[in-house]
Amino acid sequence: MNRTVVGIDLGTTHSLVAYRHEDGRVEVLPDREGRLLLPSVVALSRDGVRVGWNARERVNDPETTVIYAAKRLMGRSFEETESERRHLTYPIVDRNGSPAVPDPFRNRFLTPPEIGALVLRELRSRAEEALSREVTEAVITVPAYFNDAQRQATKDAGSLAGLSVLRIINEPTAAALAYGLGSGKDGLFAVFDLGGGTFDFSLLDIRKGIFEVRATNGDTHLGGEDFDRAIVTEWLGESPKLLSLAERSEVRDLLRKEAERAKIALSSRTEVEVAIPAAGFRTTLTRARMNELVEPFVEKALSCVRSALADSGTPPSGVDGVILVGGSTRFLRFKEAVATFFGKPLFDTVDPDLVVAEGAAVQADILSGRRKDLLLLDVTPLSLGIETIGGVTSTLIPRNTTVPAQAKELFTTYVDGQTNVDIHVLQGEREMARDNRSLARFTLSGIPPLPAGTPRIEVTFQIDANGILEVTAREQTTGKMSNVVIHPSYGLGKDDVRTLLKEAFSHAQEDFATRLLVDARTEAQTVINATIRALERVGSDILPDADREAISRQVEALKKAMEGTDGRKVRDETRLLDNLTQPLAERLMNQSISNALSGMALPKEGGSHA
Ligand code: ADP
Ligand code: MG
Repeated sequence: MNRTVVGIDLGTTHSLVAYRHEDGRVEVLPDREGRLLLPSVVALSRDGVRVGWNARERVNDPETTVIYAAKRLMGRSFEETESERRHLTYPIVDRNGSPAVPDPFRNRFLTPPEIGALVLRELRSRAEEALSREVTEAVITVPAYFNDAQRQATKDAGSLAGLSVLRIINEPTAAALAYGLGSGKDGLFAVFDLGGGTFDFSLLDIRKGIFEVRATNGDTHLGGEDFDRAIVTEWLGESPKLLSLAERSEVRDLLRKEAERAKIALSSRTEVEVAIPAAGFRTTLTRARMNELVEPFVEKALSCVRSALADSGTPPSGVDGVILVGGSTRFLRFKEAVATFFGKPLFDTVDPDLVVAEGAAVQADILSGRRKDLLLLDVTPLSLGIETIGGVTSTLIPRNTTVPAQAKELFTTYVDGQTNVDIHVLQGEREMARDNRSLARFTLSGIPPLPAGTPRIEVTFQIDANGILEVTAREQTTGKMSNVVIHPSYGLGKDDVRTLLKEAFSHAQEDFATRLLVDARTEAQTVINATIRALERVGSDILPDADREAISRQVEALKKAMEGTDGRKVRDETRLLDNLTQPLAERLMNQSISNALSGMALPKEGGSHA
């Protein structure tokens, strides 16, 4: 049975759930009434908790707490939400430093993740009904500027709703995925997301299936609701009677709804008649006038765009295409302004309300493991590996590997009778362990005492979809194992990654030389040890004195080379010694010489590092 993973756009005003079917078709899943959007609204009243459309109907009920735009509170401290709280009309209190909404009817407080969970639970059951099967896994989108805490809170909301969140992805990335970008089409794309209350602009660099957000900018209080308000203000100026009636909240609400209706009508007509009989009010709103009303908002949005471009040092002409997201981009004046500003094609064929959810579904489908035409979506930004003898780095998972990923490699011991090994987990591109980031260190003990090079120690690296790395070391004959779980990107910013890569690049040559030398010395020492062991055990019956002398001379020559810094010389001298001892090894049937050379060795616990 295939896994059913859905994609969810958990929006400030609306949320949606989408699914990619086996045949590749992406469907935004409707509720029983056929509606695709679910208002991100929760209503608390004496007779129950409502979510979505039913909750929104309660806006004017004084007995009900109507919670909306809870996304603005997600993952933030009470203090951080100060500026948001001023705009929200429901009570928000400080619970141990976090914002929470009191539920007076059930004697409890709802945290932002709990509110999010109520919305997600609704979407989940909608999906289960539409697909006629259980849904327990999801991909959820968040704004590109969300920090770790906000992403974690969104994930928590998913868990509370009984969903295992396979991945949190950026909304602009999802929008690009919905347009099939990333599989073949590379370039720098702008994502212009103008919703009901927020404006987010992102520059997305898509290369070889890797999505990188280059810059973000926006305004958390700019959107369609501002246009509605501007229209209402205009009408109130036209009619004193309306102005006096507007003191009542239900009249204000009615006006807002009429304004929105008129605005939406103007994307397909040049003028619209508006009548509010109760107030004896009639007027005509033209598209030309509407455009004048939104002009300040167009300017505001474009100035955010300019800042983002300036931050990343990109001229408008450096952008290959502009993706439109959010209901308000249907506004023709905005489309026109964006098209003129960039002079580039607009991606506007996918419904801007649905595009983020559809992209999330594409990502969900990929993570379900059903598709083989995999996109390199989330990748390891730096290589991951362990330290081997001589203090060098042995890479198991190279950088830019798609996650989830797994890699296994066999290692061995360096010293005869060694009963433990030190596993030092590293991140970075440098050849020497000391130049890379140290992620963790653990010991595998209880290895049977055997000649160096004999034990087989399997080291496994496993990264899950969320980038969590588990490193396991297992000795194959005894099955003894030990492991560690790490979050490699923890505390690692994009700039850090860039700096580390730059360093690796600039040190590449000297690193290569150092590595060559260390590897050569390690190998040389291994051969010397095995040779000395063999020489001690054989008499002149097997090894003529002349041969023994030749071998001893070569050991000295090799030791001398090892004191120098020429890795090639060390390697050449090792080959010579190896050739001299080859017949001896054969005669002795002594496996330990050849064994000693098979596979990279691990240091002992507390052992020497270079
Ligand atoms: P959010 O992402 O904030 O949840 P949406 O992307 O759902 O918001 O956008 C909702 C906004 O889009 C509302 O303000 C709505 O009035 C506006 N909108 C929807 N259709 C149109 C249209 N045809 N013309 C102008 N604005 C529209
Ligand atoms: Mg949105």
